[in-house]
Amino acid sequence: MATINENFLKLQAGYLFPEVSRRVCSFQAQNPDAKIISLGIGDVTQPLAPVVISAMKRALDDMGTEAGFRGYGPEQGYDFLIDAIIENDYKTRGIDLDRNEVFISDGSKCDTANIQEIFGLDDTVAMTDPAYPVYVDSNVMAGRTGKADENGQYDRIVYMPCTAENNFIPELPKTPVDIIYLCFPNNPTGTVADKEILSKWVDFARRTKAVILFDAAYESFITDPEIPHSIYEIDGAKEVAIEFRSFSKTAGFTGIRCAFTVVPKQLKAATSDGRVVDVNSLWNRRHCTKFNGASYISQVGAAAVYTPEGKMQTRQIIDIYRGNAKLICESLTKLGYQVYGGVNAPYIWMKTPDGLSSWDFFDRLLQKANVVGTPGAGFGPAGEGYFRLTAFASPADVKEALQRFAAV
Ligand SMILES: *Cc1c(COP(=O)(O)O)cnc(C)c1O
Repeated sequence: MATINENFLKLQAGYLFPEVSRRVCSFQAQNPDAKIISLGIGDVTQPLAPVVISAMKRALDDMGTEAGFRGYGPEQGYDFLIDAIIENDYKTRGIDLDRNEVFISDGSKCDTANIQEIFGLDDTVAMTDPAYPVYVDSNVMAGRTGKADENGQYDRIVYMPCTAENNFIPELPKTPVDIIYLCFPNNPTGTVADKEILSKWVDFARRTKAVILFDAAYESFITDPEIPHSIYEIDGAKEVAIEFRSFSKTAGFTGIRCAFTVVPKQLKAATSDGRVVDVNSLWNRRHCTKFNGASYISQVGAAAVYTPEGKMQTRQIIDIYRGNAKLICESLTKLGYQVYGGVNAPYIWMKTPDGLSSWDFFDRLLQKANVVGTPGAGFGPAGEGYFRLTAFASPADVKEALQRFAAV
C-alpha cells in the first residue's frame, strides 16, 4: 500500500475559515431572516477596472485568430508584463531589476507556499504570530517542523509575537534563524513598516546570512510617502530578500489570478558543505519544472493595470476600500473600541471588548449585530483577544454594519 507524507497529519484540524462559515451557517439556519454582513474573509468585492476588462477581451479575441493565437508562453511570464512591472513598480522607486529577476505566476498564495521548497529542510524558519496561515502550513507539509503543541504552535518554528505591546512589529529573533517571513502592510494586523524597521531586518539578515521572504500583497494600500512599497528600497536588501506581489488586492484579480515574485541575482544561499549558490537559478528551475506560465489573458489584464487609465481606475477602487477602512476605524473608536491598522492597509485589527476571547466576541457580534469578522486567535496564539475586520465590503454594507455595532 502507498504511504502518505505524514507531515500532513501534523496540520491543525478545524482551519479558521471553515469554522467561521460553520458558525455563520448554523446561525443563519436558526435565524433565516437575519441579513448577515461579512467583514470577514479578505476577498475584494468591487468589479474589475474597465480598462482591464477591455484589454482581456481583446486578448481573447486575438486568441481566436490564426495570427493572434498563443499556446504555452514563457514559464516566467511575458516580457510585456515583466517590463511594465519593472518600469512602474520598481524603477520609479530607484530600484533596477533585470527581466530574469521577476517571475510571473498565478498567485502569491502559491508562491509564498512554494518558495520554501528551494531551501534546506534543516533551515530554521521564523514566523510572526499572528500570520497568514500559508507560511506556517507550507513549512509543516514540507517537514521543516515538529508537531504542534496545545497552543497550535509547531516545534522548530521560531515565533515572533506581534501585540499592542510591541506595536505589532516583530522583535529580532534571539536564537539563530535561516528564513524569515515578513508581511507589510500586514495581514491580519494592518501594521506597516517604515524604513527604519525594514532596515533593521535587512541588516539582521545580512549579518546572520538569513533570507527574508517579504510579502507585499497590500503595498498598493500605502499612502504615507515615508512607508516603503518594496523591501528593495532598503540598501542591501537585494542580497537577502525575496519579494512577493500580487494583482489580487491591488487590482481585484482574486478571480483572474496573476502575481509575481522577485528573486534578485545577488541573493545567495549555501549548500551543506558551505558552497555558495545562486537562489535565482534554483527558483527558475523550480518554477519551470512545476509551472507552465500564467494565462496570456490574465497577463494582458495585469499589464493594463499599468496604463495611465489602469492606474487611475484601480486607484479609484482602492480609494473605496480605503474610505471603508477609515470609516471603520473612526466609528469603532467613537464607540470606545481599541483599533489598530486600517491606515495604509485594508485590515482593521481591534481589541475584543470586556476581555472576551476572540471566538466569544465573534459569536457576540454575529448574534447581536449579524456581522461577521475573523477571530484573531485563528492567525496564531498572539492573536487571541483581537479581532480582524476587512475593508473589502461595499460602502453601504460597511455603513450598515457599523450602525449595528452600536447595539453590541
Ligand atoms: C491575499 C493575500 C495574498 C495574495 O494571494 P493571491 O494568491 O495572489 O490571490 C498574499 N499574501 C497575503 C498575506 C494575502 O492576504
